[in-house]
Amino acid sequence: MREQAEGGPLVSRESEPAECSRDVTECDNPIPGSAAAELRDYHAAFNAARTAMALVDRDGRLLAANPALGSLLGTDPAGLADRRAAELVGLGGDERSRDAYQDVLRGARERLRRTCRLKSRDGHGMWAEVTIESLRQRDQGARSAGALLSVEDVTEQRELAARLRHLQMHDPVTRLPNRALFFERLSAALRSPTSGRVGICYLDLDGFKAVNDTLGHAIGDRLLAAVATRLLACVAEGGHLAARLGGDEFALLVEESQDTEQLVALADTVLSALQRPFDLEGHRLAVSASIGVVERPTAGTSPTCLMQAADTTLYWAKADGKARWTLFDPERNAHRMTRQSLSSTLRQAVERGEFVLEYQPLVALSGGALRGVEALVRWEHPQFGRLAPNRFIGLAEENGSIVQLGHWVLAESCRRARAWQKDHPDEPLFVSVNVAVRQVWDSDLVTDVAEILDETGLPPELLQLELTESAVMGSAGQPLQALHALSEMGVRIAIDDFGTGYSNLAYLSRLPVAALKLDGSFVRGFRSPEHPNPADETIVVALVELAHRLGLTVTAECVENAEQAERLRRIGCDTGQGWFYSRPVAAERISAMLGGR
Ligand code: C2E
Ligand code: MG
Ligand code: MG
Repeated sequence: MREQAEGGPLVSRESEPAECSRDVTECDNPIPGSAAAELRDYHAAFNAARTAMALVDRDGRLLAANPALGSLLGTDPAGLADRRAAELVGLGGDERSRDAYQDVLRGARERLRRTCRLKSRDGHGMWAEVTIESLRQRDQGARSAGALLSVEDVTEQRELAARLRHLQMHDPVTRLPNRALFFERLSAALRSPTSGRVGICYLDLDGFKAVNDTLGHAIGDRLLAAVATRLLACVAEGGHLAARLGGDEFALLVEESQDTEQLVALADTVLSALQRPFDLEGHRLAVSASIGVVERPTAGTSPTCLMQAADTTLYWAKADGKARWTLFDPERNAHRMTRQSLSSTLRQAVERGEFVLEYQPLVALSGGALRGVEALVRWEHPQFGRLAPNRFIGLAEENGSIVQLGHWVLAESCRRARAWQKDHPDEPLFVSVNVAVRQVWDSDLVTDVAEILDETGLPPELLQLELTESAVMGSAGQPLQALHALSEMGVRIAIDDFGTGYSNLAYLSRLPVAALKLDGSFVRGFRSPEHPNPADETIVVALVELAHRLGLTVTAECVENAEQAERLRRIGCDTGQGWFYSRPVAAERISAMLGGR
């Protein structure tokens, strides 16, 4: 605490304290001896008090100030007499406290307390808690006998509180503002916007975990601090906020953003600032960052909403290949939202029967006979219209609804194929059904197939199951045992999109596979007669030869023109599938094709 001046005279407007006492005791209306002694005691107490005080009259003028007040303000207390209390201690600066101050002087209010900034005796600023308290006596009703002003130096408490707040609001590793302060500033920027726009660069270091794991946390922390220094340099000119949100995540806040370009330019500056390697304790470290950039009007947005958008955008920057910035894209976000909504409604959609099947012919390359059809599922979505399988099969695999959906596809395809068989007993047509990985490993496919064949009456040899290489080879490299059971039942197994997975030809000889469906990319490779890709053709020749040696038939996918069909035929492919023959069509169209044969 500040030292207090001891002793010293009571300073009054009229007189020295001794005279004042004498005046009081010797006036016309003499105060009894004991009362005079009491008054002297009060004077002495007033002088000796360590609390800075002054008596103020009803007009707000200082009647007397004690030495503690003089010492606090660095002035002779005598010189304070007659000064206006409000001016001296900055009371009543605004209208509200002016009224309250007047009320205290009038005796209509007990006290007013304010913390103000005052000039101290050494000329520095100090924080003071100023109290003005009415001296109204009870028996005098509302008539005031002036007021007592007391002033306490609270600079140290204020500084301590500020230091504590700084600790609470800053990250010890980088000394940057932390998440709490970042959100406080972001909320304030949204509450009282100046430019009406706000922007965030939300960044995450690429590969930081590896630094931490291999070189230890101490180096990791030093790297974070070095990154923070560079980020501060990036925002220094614009006066923006750089904060560490946790881990290796940082955010730059542009409180009065002009436009998207400003944020993109800032993101570019950050990327190039981080490009220079960091030299830390003998280690030369190269890091990069992924940045999600969001810039938008302040109206109609909230801190949570902004941060969610920034988070999504940062995720895109990572997914797009890291070491880059990505700008928030409402359309891409809508797609993400659609994914969510599709995923959550898939299961009910199966129950409500919102799916339909189309069938695409598989045609003999020599002769052009219709051999089979591939069943391809579509979702007749009540809101989004007809959806292609690439929009929902992956989601159905993720959330497990593929098991129900796959069961329906299998049952419906077999019913259809059986109907075609009944209508055209002399023209056997097989149906080829896609089976997802999860369907194979998470459900009892063998039992399901057996039951469906039994219920529909479809001969097993008219059913082909298309599995991808990853479905037949389990994650531990274990081939699927169920294939043998299915094959023994008489069902044909085909490997779909062959050439895109392991392409491990060795397993083909050990598995009961009946057919290969060559991925469309091979055929696309020799699509144009002007730019034939001899490599693709060589591979196809070799694959077909090998497949035939193993007793498998080969279907080429994505046959789009006569040229491709002819080359595939010459190579020795068995069947072709693609737009050249027919797009996937409704079951009725297949019936019509059969009827016309
Ligand atoms: P996939 O089994 O390889 O099916 C062939 C895809 O190629 C089909 O796309 C088909 O419409 C398309 N296509 C056919 N001919 C041509 C062509 O000449 N050129 C081009 N560019 N494309 C052609 P679709 O119907 O969109 O199916 C995509 C994928 O969805 C399928 O690929 C299959 O993996 C999956 N899928 C479809 N239905 C089912 C199903 O019921 N269950 C499961 N698990 N997956 C399914
Ligand atoms: Mg397929
Ligand atoms: Mg395929």
